[in-house]
Amino acid sequence: MKRRDFLKASLAAAGLASLPVRLLAAGSANQPEAAEPPVFSGHSYVDCHLHYLDFLQVTDGLERLVAAMNAANVERAVLFGMPMIKQWDPSAPKKPKYYLSNDSRCYYYSGTDFLLLKHLSQAPAHIRSRFLPFICGVNANDMNAADLLRRLLGEYPGLIAGIGEIMCRHDDLTAQTYGEPPRPDHPALLPVYDLAAEMRMPVIIHHNISGVQMDEPLYLGEMENALRHNRKTNIVWAHVGVSRRVELSNLPEIAEGALQRHSNLYFDLSWLVFENYIAKDEASFATWAELIARRPGRFMVGTDVVGHWDKYPANILKYNALLDRLPPKTARMIARDNILGLIGKRAAAQLSGSAGEAVSARAV
Ligand SMILES: [Zn+2]
Repeated sequence: MKRRDFLKASLAAAGLASLPVRLLAAGSANQPEAAEPPVFSGHSYVDCHLHYLDFLQVTDGLERLVAAMNAANVERAVLFGMPMIKQWDPSAPKKPKYYLSNDSRCYYYSGTDFLLLKHLSQAPAHIRSRFLPFICGVNANDMNAADLLRRLLGEYPGLIAGIGEIMCRHDDLTAQTYGEPPRPDHPALLPVYDLAAEMRMPVIIHHNISGVQMDEPLYLGEMENALRHNRKTNIVWAHVGVSRRVELSNLPEIAEGALQRHSNLYFDLSWLVFENYIAKDEASFATWAELIARRPGRFMVGTDVVGHWDKYPANILKYNALLDRLPPKTARMIARDNILGLIGKRAAAQLSGSAGEAVSARAV
């Protein structure tokens, strides 16, 4: 069976054909108010990787996002902006929607954090309590990065749960962005890891493990240097280091080796690592399920959806096919418990109950 057909069959088996209709209903203005909290059953999720804003810094908004989460059995989500913005060049025939829409440059956009934190601060408690906000809007090559993040943590005490998604090597996105290619062991990021450890916050990093169509982990060493810098910094490596056209035939072995060497490393299974690796065929499903079962505390599930929520339910519920292949306890860990554990139970509880008041910064 071809990969696409296999995926379609998996999604159909999960009953996802009806989702767009359900989502339309869920997103309508007639949604019941939060006085009736949503009920979660079966596999319920805490999405570990969700972008509130797209590459033009546009969003469908928090209310529609919560409606989509309710339609998809998602209790809460790690929510961050988008650290880059796509420039609209006057020579472009039309306004771009995505970083790949044309060849124009991208640049680092710190406004993304302020937009997210402003919208969250103004949202009612039943909306705000569903999110675990991270901050990301820094140039990963700027020696000021840690100071800028520290200042933001001070401006919004108790509202921020973590740091990321920090953008390091990212194929076309890196090529389109002004400045040197960012890397996890850059001197500008080392103080960011120290800040994260001090604040007991995880750091989510996008960093391609290799170049395009290079069947060797060219850039693994850069991430390993970052992991060695401060063992108290928990780093979540987004998408197990893969991106479009990053093809490593032995990724599960490479991933397990890195986990063995670095106790502060975690992998998020968001974006196309699911379609291109885990769910490629039945043998891949089995290989990844066995790896996850051997290291149940080190993986977590997220969507990497960007700013718009019409396809959100399908993007998270596709993981049911993986969870169904895992022991129930392991499934619950990668679907929700692991990311909550990294953020810290106390911090997660504070954020869910903060109800608009800035809670005091966590003791460190
Ligand atoms: Zn992302």
